[in-house]
Amino acid sequence: MSKYPQLGEEHELVRKTAREFAERRVVPAARAIDEGNYPRDLLREMGDLGLLAPHIPQEFGGAGLDFRSMVIVVEEIAKASPALATVAEVQGSMISYNLYRYAQPNVREKWLEDVAKGRKIVAFALSEPCCGSDAAAIQTRAERRGGEWVINGVKLWITSGLYADAYLVAARTGPPELRHKSISLFLVERSRCIETSPIKVMGVHGTGTAEVKFNDCVVGEEALVGKLNEGFQVVLDDLNNGRTCVGAIGLGIAEAAFAEAYAYSKKRTAFGRPLAEFQVLQHYLANAYVQTEAVRNVVYLAAFYRDADDPSFPMYAQLAKVLGSRLAVETTRVAMQIMGGFGYSTESRVEMLYRDAKATEIYEGANEVILNTIYKFLEKAL
Ligand SMILES: Cc1cc2nc3c(=O)[nH]c(=O)nc-3n(C[C@H](O)[C@H](O)[C@H](O)COP(=O)(O)OP(=O)(O)OC[C@H]3O[C@@H](n4cnc5c(N)ncnc54)[C@H](O)[C@@H]3O)c2cc1C
Repeated sequence: MSKYPQLGEEHELVRKTAREFAERRVVPAARAIDEGNYPRDLLREMGDLGLLAPHIPQEFGGAGLDFRSMVIVVEEIAKASPALATVAEVQGSMISYNLYRYAQPNVREKWLEDVAKGRKIVAFALSEPCCGSDAAAIQTRAERRGGEWVINGVKLWITSGLYADAYLVAARTGPPELRHKSISLFLVERSRCIETSPIKVMGVHGTGTAEVKFNDCVVGEEALVGKLNEGFQVVLDDLNNGRTCVGAIGLGIAEAAFAEAYAYSKKRTAFGRPLAEFQVLQHYLANAYVQTEAVRNVVYLAAFYRDADDPSFPMYAQLAKVLGSRLAVETTRVAMQIMGGFGYSTESRVEMLYRDAKATEIYEGANEVILNTIYKFLEKAL
């Protein structure tokens, strides 16, 4: 039995497998990832264990489980390396699901199993220099030429962008005035028409963040993922999965930061007693626990709604993202404070978690933009 009503025994088994893998394989590699090493081997190992895309059917390389399993894996991996969790959730919860649900059969056949097993990497290429929050204004174009599409444009901040074998690219296929109604998605294989360059970022090092340029990339009709001019709907569907997973990354980061600070407060002494005996620090830790348990329930509930095909899912996906990311930022801040100078040093894991936490408030939609969406949902519901 799970102690959380949204989860069953099978989810706790998934957690056990993910946690064992994280402790055995990810914890020892986390420093190297933070130093910039893209975790390609670990993605493959996750794929072999069925941890990369657990919610995808086994015949397509997944584990035939559900979305809650995906969320539990992401939480456990994030405790060890938020960077690996970030790459894995894009590949597992967004790209694999997208190929499974929307790709044309021959493309799905060719790519999905390798993606779900971590043998091939596919990046999600939506944001551009002109526009991240205002994604309906993107400028990358796909123009029809005979029976083919020619794609031109620049994408920015693309996770796994440096190393991907293919890109799921959002491109304009109609007049810009139509905004989200003239955007389509294409699977574009890496070739000489694609130029990538690294972008230095504050945290989630090792995720291969890149600028990706598409110069006259030619793809066939079969590369279209979802219907023509309906790509934005697919993106929103992807992002609901992704945002729930970002909530789980935030949860994992907060749990890891709490564990570090709690252990440190017991062994470090000041004024002749352990830090843990100062009531103010006890309150910091108790508050972090209070918030973590509340957020955990929302993240698991979002995943439960997704599995139940409940209409509350889109709203709860946004709640999970906002709450999980805030939790990560606040808990790592407090954990670092409890750990003083050592917490601030690059020797401590909390320093990495603090940097990684900030990204969760920005990627997959800045929290302010997500609050706009939440307000729109509220106006419809109230
Ligand atoms: C580490 C990292 C990884 C990423 N990975 C990917 C990826 O794999 N694929 C991809 O496509 N993108 C990726 N992104 C891009 C990310 O999704 C965008 O950075 C994000 O959507 C914000 O867009 P922007 O940076 O252009 O900010 P802008 O749109 O310029 O907004 C800047 C700020 O203005 C505020 N703001 C903007 N619009 C509004 C509004 N309407 N109401 C209120 N406030 C507003 C917000 O506070 C926002 O943070 C990644 C980003 C980072 C940092």
